[in-house]
Formats: sequence, structure tokens, C-alpha cells
Amino acid sequence: MPPTKDADKKSIAELVDKYINDNNVMIFSKSWCPFCKKIKQALTSANIDFYSIELDQMDNGELILNELINKTKQETVPNIFIKKEHIGGCDKTLEAMKSGRVAALLNPTESKMKHQKTDNDHLDSYDYDLIVIGGGSGGLACSKEAQSLGKKVCVLDFVKPTPIGTTWGLGGTCVNVGCIPKKLMHQASLIGEYVNDSIDYGWSKLEQARQHDWSKMIGSIQSYIRSLNFKYRTDLRSKGVVYENSYGQFISPHRLKLTDKKGQTKEITGKNIVVAIGGRPKYPDIEGDKKYGITSDDLFSLEYDPGKTIVVGASYVALECAGFLHGIGRQVHIFVRSILLRGFDQQMATRIGDYMSAIGIQFHQQTIPIRLECLEEGKPGKLRLHYRQTLESGEIYESYEDCNTVLFAIGREACTHDLNLNKIGIHINKTNSFKIKTKQEQSIDVPWLYAIGDCVDEQNMPPGKMLELTPVAIQAGQLLARRLFSNSTIMMDYYNVPTTVFTPIEYGAIGYSEEDAITQFHQENIEVYHSEFVPLEWSICHHRENVKTMSYCKLIVDKKTDRVIGFHVLSPNAGEITQGYTVAMRLGATKHDFDMTVGIHPTCSENLTTISVTKSSGDAVSKEGC
Ligand code: FAD
Ligand code: NDP
Repeated sequence: MPPTKDADKKSIAELVDKYINDNNVMIFSKSWCPFCKKIKQALTSANIDFYSIELDQMDNGELILNELINKTKQETVPNIFIKKEHIGGCDKTLEAMKSGRVAALLNPTESKMKHQKTDNDHLDSYDYDLIVIGGGSGGLACSKEAQSLGKKVCVLDFVKPTPIGTTWGLGGTCVNVGCIPKKLMHQASLIGEYVNDSIDYGWSKLEQARQHDWSKMIGSIQSYIRSLNFKYRTDLRSKGVVYENSYGQFISPHRLKLTDKKGQTKEITGKNIVVAIGGRPKYPDIEGDKKYGITSDDLFSLEYDPGKTIVVGASYVALECAGFLHGIGRQVHIFVRSILLRGFDQQMATRIGDYMSAIGIQFHQQTIPIRLECLEEGKPGKLRLHYRQTLESGEIYESYEDCNTVLFAIGREACTHDLNLNKIGIHINKTNSFKIKTKQEQSIDVPWLYAIGDCVDEQNMPPGKMLELTPVAIQAGQLLARRLFSNSTIMMDYYNVPTTVFTPIEYGAIGYSEEDAITQFHQENIEVYHSEFVPLEWSICHHRENVKTMSYCKLIVDKKTDRVIGFHVLSPNAGEITQGYTVAMRLGATKHDFDMTVGIHPTCSENLTTISVTKSSGDAVSKEGC
């Protein structure tokens, strides 16, 4: 071989060695190769940094490939080295990630601890029988249940502040920034409506005195929440559950690092670990979103009156917040990207939209925010939200709406980012809001690790179900503890989970939406019974004139079995109504059972026992009086 060629070979070999030695994770790749793309995605999802070169785009790519073949006997790409060790191609690297080999190579000290811990497995010498990460609805329920079964339990709860600095106490989303303050603000708005009703009930002076004080409402609600935070802490202490107000992160199997708010750290071990870390609101990733916008995490303790508010989003959180803000007298606009209440019965969703428009909430259809700017600092200040709207004609135009507050309610993502699940070989899919895939018994890949509540991937649940709900997290947590620490085999049942959207007119639902029922059973096999009714309490209230006929209910029935497979009610107190009917639905109630049930007169709920008009008949649905 000519001397120049030898020199070339030597320099290529040195180059390859340099790539391998200089980079913790080195990928020799080709830009068009699907396996190269796959492994890069997997490493990115696992938060593992890598360095890659595309051999097909380099002048000396062919020479490097030959050198790699010499060195590794592997002829294909990707060709991957971790900490100088040759791992192999895509599949071998995925396997190494799953088995923990990659984590061990990247973090040798932790790996050593892991092996020590594995030896200890037989000694049963963990600090706790169970560690629960997250002291929200699911985590508290699970930890208390486990403790009541005689186990040594530790629960960690730590709240990272929002971009504008809001934080809160023990109890998770429901108590602090979810169901509880939301329902109380919904009540504040209903009281406003009752005050409007009062004039026709003879209370005219009440109507004249009508004013709403935001600070007073926030003060009352926050003081109640603080009492609940205190109650949860004392409850844990009295039951003997150890509570750590620290952020938990995996450092190896069974072992967590805890960091408290002063930055002090310690390590604890658990024989079993339950991840119950819930979720946090997303931001749209537009200019000014985190600086000037807020989310539901800020709203319920906002120290100033939000004033005119634009709500971005059109699902549960958006519609509920928009509803109560309007109800307490604030001007509200809603930016809807596509449809209202995705996943819900769309006829019911449209009716909610119609009702909210009729009471004065302004909807901007097919609208997305593109930039948020501050016109005037203040509490509240003046903001300008630039948006892009697609008109019915298909034309797209850009404009802006000025307001005092922008509330982003565009969905939530699981708090898995900093949990270091990759250190125990668990990889999180970014595409599904960073949620954790579990099996039906809530376990994740390894036998000692489980997940419950909002952080669990909905793909494991029945199709079309919206299950980020407090009672779901609580029941999943309790049942899991019983399966782990007593002889229970009872699994969480995700079917017929009821839900209510607390919009100005409440909407309760159980079972199938009409769309899902058609898909599952086919149109010809179902019958839809429906009725439009006037709540008696509204019938003498002049201010409700344009909405009083908007209450509506429907039952979707499987013609073959006569079973009611879908229950929907839009009316005052729909939450209270729906809860009762859920028992009947679980027991497999038929339309005949509904018909044979004697109603309670005069209530909205009785309408479900008297529905006789079918959609297919085309007969009128409105009903007034007895
Ligand atoms: P969470 O309650 O969110 O608890 C998780 C806890 O873990 C949090 O305190 C979090 O800070 C903590 N945490 C996270 N990571 C770590 C870590 N690494 N270390 C330590 N701690 C950590 N549901 C209903 O049923 N009815 C309603 O009316 C209703 N209204 C809602 C209104 C709003 C505005 C929102 C946002 C939600 C609402 N929900 C409602 C949903 C309900 O709040 C959630 O489904 C429920 O709280 C989920 O419980 P969880 O235990 O999974 O998580
Ligand atoms: P969802 O994920 O249900 O809805 C997100 C909404 O934001 C959708 O309307 C979506 O539109 C829209 N959106 C998403 N991204 C953007 C964007 N970039 N720009 C504009 N709009 C956007 O989230 P929620 O936060 O409303 O609710 C989360 C869960 O919390 C619910 O599923 C529910 O289980 C629970 N919850 C329960 C309540 C109750 O029981 N009463 C009350 C509140 C919450 P699109 O449809 O186009 O995707």
C-alpha cells in the first residue's frame, strides 16, 4: 500500500478514536437511516445527550465507515459507543437503555449503589415499605391506605412555583388549584345569578346592592384551602405517615434523592415506589406567554382582580374558568382553537357553547394566540393578545384583542421531566404530555414501581375517556395499596366513571357520547331519547328568558339489551344529579328501569325518568310544566 494511504488510514483511525473518546454517547449515523432517527429520538426522550455525525454527508464518511467495520465488525449504522464502550446498533442500544446498562455506563457511582441495593433486596432493609412521590389526591389516598394496612410509608410533596411565583401547600391540584377553589368560584358565580333572580322573587334590594369583591372571595377561599393543607399535614402525622416537603428524583432502583426548598438533600429507599406526581398547565410557547400570561395555577390565589380576561382553550378548565369569571361580572372572551370539549358528546358541547354565548361570553372560533405583549404594567395591567383566526371562508387573518388578563387553559402535562426516570431505565414519551405508560394494575416495567392519577397515560384507559379526575386518582391509589399490602385483587374500573363540567349551566355525563356509541354499536343499534326542559326555579326569572329552555337531557340506549349506555344532562345541579344515576349505570340499568323509576317532583332530575321522545322520531323535545 502506498505510504500516503497508510497515513490516511492512521489519521482516520485517530479521528474515529477521537470521536469515541470525546463524547459520552457517540452515534455514527446516516441522515436517511430510520434506525438512526429512532435511536436519536429514544435518547432525546430519555434526556440523554449524544453527539452524532452523518457519514453520508461527509467527504471522508466512507473511510470512517470502513474504519468502524474494522474496529467493531458491525457493518451497519447507527454504530453507537457509550463511554468509549461499543454498544452496537439501534436495537442493542434500546435494549441497553431498558436494562439499565446505559444508565450504569453514564453514572457508574449510582450503578454501584444500585447493585448494592439489589443485594439488599433479599435483606428487606429499605427505609420504607412504600414511598409515594406526590401528595395530591392519589398519593395521599394511597399512602394513608398503605399505612392503615400496617406498612411504613413516606409521602413526598413539593410544589415548584409557577413562572409568576405562585406556590401552595400539601394536597395537590384538587385542593389548591383545581376542584375545590374552582367549585367555590363556580358557586360565587351562581350566587350572582341568584341575586339576579332575586328581583322576581321579591328581593329587589339585594339586586340593587349587587357588587363583587375579588379580594374578599380570594381571601375566604384561600383561608379555607390553608385549613385543608393543615388538616392533611396533621392527618398524615396522626396516622404515622412520614411527610417530606421535598422534591423526589430517582437516582437508582428503589432509591430517591430528596431536595427541600433550602436545597438540602438526602437519600431514602423504598421497597415499593408509587409515582403520583400529577400534572401542571402547559403554555403555548409564544412570545410573552410566561411573562404576562397566567394559568389556573395562578388564578385561584391571584391577589388582584383579573378584570377583562381572555381565556385560551376550550375544554374543562377553560370553559369552567371563563364561566365563573363571567358569572362574577368580568368581561370574558374565549379563544377556541378547534372544537369545544374534545372527547365529550359534541351535541352537548355545542349546547354549552350556545348557553355561554347567550349569557354574554364572547367566543372567537378557530383562533390561536401568536404573541402576548404588555401595554401597561399593573395589577392588573393592560395586555394585548395577538391572534390568528381562520374564517369560515378559509381565509386566515391576524388581529389582536386587548384585555387585563390572559389565562392559558390549553391542557396539562405530567411532571415527569425532572424525575430522572431514565436512571431506572424508564423512558417517557413526550408526545403524550410526558405521561407514564402503566399496565392495568398500575405497574411500570419493573415490579416495585407503580403510577397513579393524572400522570398516567390515558392510552391505557377506555377510548375517549377523560379520566384526569380526583376520584379516579383516589380510588386507583386506594386499590393499589390494597393489592400491594393485603390480599386484594380488585383492579381500578375505568368504565362508567361519571364527570361533570361546572360551566354556568352544568353538564353531567356517564358512559358513551353519541359519537362513540355510534362508532361502537352502529347507528341502527342505538336509540337516543331526549328532552328539553325548563328548570322550575328559572321559570319566573325574567333575566333568564333567553336561556331558560336550554336545559336538556338525553339517554343513549343499546336497542338489543335496552341498557342505557350513555347519560347526559345539561341543567342546574347536573353534578348532583349525575352522581346518583352513576350507581344505576354501574348496575346495568335499562331504559325500562329508568321508566319504572318514580321521579321526584318538581326537580330537573326527574326528567331522566320521563324521557319518551326519540331523536329518530323527529318529534318536538321541549317540555314545560308538569
Ligand atoms: P395532583 O393532585 O396534581 O398531585 C401531585 C402532587 O405531586 C402535586 O402536589 C405536585 O406538586 C407533586 N409533585 C410532582 N412532582 C413531584 C416530585 N418529583 N416530588 C415531590 N412532589 C412532586 N377533578 C375532578 O374530579 N373534579 C373537578 O371538578 C376538577 N376540577 C379541576 C379544575 C382544575 C382547574 C384542574 C386543573 C383540575 C381539576 N380536576 C378536577 C382534576 C383533578 O384536580 C386531578 O385529576 C387530581 O388532582 C389528580 O390527582 P393526582 O394525585 O394525580 O395529582
Ligand atoms: P384539555 O387537554 O382537556 O384541553 C385543552 C384545550 O386547549 C383544548 O380545547 C385544546 O384545543 C386547547 N389547546 C391546546 N393547545 C392549544 C394551543 N396551543 N392554542 C390554543 N388552544 C389550545 O385540558 P384541560 O386543561 O381543560 O383539562 C385537563 C383535565 O383536567 C381534563 O381532561 C379533566 O379530566 C380535568 N379537569 C376536570 C374538571 C372537572 O371534573 N370538572 C375540571 C377541569 C379539569 P383542541 O381541542 O383543538 O386540541
